Amino acid sequence: MSENTETARCLIIGSGPAGYTAAIYAARADLKPVMYQGMQPGGQLTITTEVENFPGYPKGITGPEMMEEFKEQAERFGTQVRGGVVTEVDFSKRPFTAKADDGRTIVAESVIIATGASAKWLGLESEKKFMGMGVSGCATCDGFFYRGQDVAIVGGGDTAAEEATYLAKLCRKVYMVHRRSELRASKAMQHKVLNTPNIEMIWDSAPEEVLGDESGVTGLRVRNVKTGEARDLALMGFFVAIGHKPNTDIFTGQVELDDQAYIKTKPGTTQTSIDGVFACGDVQDHHYRQAVTAAGTGCMAAIEAERFLGA
Ligand code: NDP
Repeated sequence: MSENTETARCLIIGSGPAGYTAAIYAARADLKPVMYQGMQPGGQLTITTEVENFPGYPKGITGPEMMEEFKEQAERFGTQVRGGVVTEVDFSKRPFTAKADDGRTIVAESVIIATGASAKWLGLESEKKFMGMGVSGCATCDGFFYRGQDVAIVGGGDTAAEEATYLAKLCRKVYMVHRRSELRASKAMQHKVLNTPNIEMIWDSAPEEVLGDESGVTGLRVRNVKTGEARDLALMGFFVAIGHKPNTDIFTGQVELDDQAYIKTKPGTTQTSIDGVFACGDVQDHHYRQAVTAAGTGCMAAIEAERFLGA
């Protein structure tokens, strides 16, 4: 074995709530987990502001602080947390191998994938500038901060439709900006959106610029793609709901993925198509996508890995 090759009983790839929870359980079960944190240590929570819906934090906590606490708890029981990225895996035979960008090759008896998903963004300069200051990728997480205010959401799929109706219960007015004149969302969701009085559809339009000042977002400039006409909407929150992309590029051809490239797991478990490889959190869940559900599946993955190794 070369000096850059090492063995691990349990390799955890990814460091959001799913990865850290898996690490806490795996470390306490004496699996001596090695974790590669990935491109965005702490995951999607590190780009949100306040987290108020994770049990145990009655006063709320910021996403980055919460992820630091998860990390501390995982390290307390002996998880080796490494700030690198796994770039390649081979699950074709056991033990599995993974190469990381620190030059190491890990030969692992079990692998827990917790690489999450990334929200797709429009790519506007102003969207980046006001991220966490009025621009959000999650209405369930951040909608509460805009109670009684006017907000906009962009997208025409089920997520945008669901989030628009959620926001409509909290906010005074919700502008739903969609680039076509027909929603992609299911008929039931379309019906809901179109029959909610405080949702105003802005059809055939694309957000052009998020307007704001040092206090955060103050408006959104949208342009009608058919007429070329621009309109400025006064609002305080702008939600982007144009889909998510699971972070599964390196797993293509290694484990079974569904038609949207999420990892397939056996219902009620975190077991992937390969024995000994488990997946937890958003990389295998496009439905709930909450920190607490990700943490729950992280716990399941570690328990299943422990049972697999003990078998
Ligand atoms: P989708 O891919 O279904 O929809 C994305 C939406 O964003 C589309 O309306 C698309 O427009 C629009 N869009 C994409 N890129 C841009 C862009 N650059 N600028 C402006 N608009 C853009 O993603 P969802 O997250 O909504 O849903 C993902 C999957 O999850 C779907 O299969 C959905 O059915 C499912 N889901 C199911 C739910 C449920 O059953 N309760 C809840 C949430 C999701 P266009 O339509 O023009 O392509």
